[in-house]
Amino acid sequence: MKLTTIKGPVEIDSLGLILPHEHLFTDLRGPHVPGYAKSEPSAVLKVVQPFLAEAAAAGVTALVECSTVGVGRNLSVLRSLADGTSIHIIAPTGVYRDAYIPQSLREADEEDLAALWTKELLEGMEGTSIRAGFIKLAMSDDGPTPLEIRNLRAAARASKNTGAVIASHTIGGRLARKEMDVLEAAGLDLHRFIWVHAQTEPDLSILREAARRGAFVELDTVGAPFQPQTELLETVTALIEAGFIEHLLLSHDAGWYNPARHDGLPEEGFRGYTALIRVFLPELLRRGITEEQVRSMTVNNPARAFAFYR
Ligand SMILES: [Zn+2]
Repeated sequence: MKLTTIKGPVEIDSLGLILPHEHLFTDLRGPHVPGYAKSEPSAVLKVVQPFLAEAAAAGVTALVECSTVGVGRNLSVLRSLADGTSIHIIAPTGVYRDAYIPQSLREADEEDLAALWTKELLEGMEGTSIRAGFIKLAMSDDGPTPLEIRNLRAAARASKNTGAVIASHTIGGRLARKEMDVLEAAGLDLHRFIWVHAQTEPDLSILREAARRGAFVELDTVGAPFQPQTELLETVTALIEAGFIEHLLLSHDAGWYNPARHDGLPEEGFRGYTALIRVFLPELLRRGITEEQVRSMTVNNPARAFAFYR
C-alpha cells in the first residue's frame, strides 16, 4: 500500500512516524479576502523549513497538511516545502466549513464536487500532476449546514471511487454522530473516516462509539498550550484499555506560515512538530504503554488511514 504524497506515491513500509494532522501554510481570512492564500514560496520556505528539519531530525517521516481549500491551500508553496525537506508531505482535496467555501464550490452540485475531488485524488490538482492524498472537510460548530451535508455526501462518493480517507474537523460528539450517520447513509464504510479534534468531546463513550463504528479517532492537541496534556494522555490510555488502539491517531495540529502577516508567523507564534516524539510518547511509555503500542498509533494507524483502499 502507498501514501499519495506531493512528490508521488510512497510505499508505507518505507515510512516510520507519520503526523496525521498538521499545518504548513494556512490562511484563516478565507477565500473572499484580497490576497488570500498568496505568498512567495521562498518566503514560506525560509520560515517553515527549520521546523521541518527539526521534525525530520526527531524522526518524523511523513506529515499530513490539513489546510484545505478555503483556508489557504497553495500548491506552489507546498511543492517548494516538499522539495526542501526529507519529510513526505500529503496535501488535501475537499473544502473547509460553510463560511469558507469559495463561490464556485457553493454553486456546484454533489455529483460535480465528487467528480472534482476524485480527479484531484487520482490525476492532480489545479492543472498540476500533484495528487491529493486525502479529503479534508470541516463542519460548522452548530452544523452540519445543508452545504456541509452536500460536502459529506460528495466526499463519500469520492472516497468510494478512490479509497481515500475523509478527515473532518468536528467539534464535539453530537456533530460527529450526525456526520457518521450522513456518511453511512451515503454508503461509506466508516473505516474511511477520521474524526478530527475528537478530544473536544469530554464523554469518552462517544469516542468509543465512533471507534466501534469503524472510524479513526484523532487526538490532535499534543503539545498545545491550551490543552491539558494529562487529560489527553488519560484519554489515550483509556481508549487503549477499551480495545480501540487501532483507531487512534495522534498529532499536534501545529504550525503554520500565516500569509496575513508580514513575518509570516501565526498570532501565537509558530508551534513546531516535535512535542509528540520528545514529550508525549515518552510520557505514554512511563504510563505502561509499550513500544509496540506506540508504533501502532504513530506508524501503522496513520499509514493505514491515509493509504487508498476500500
Ligand atoms: Zn487543523
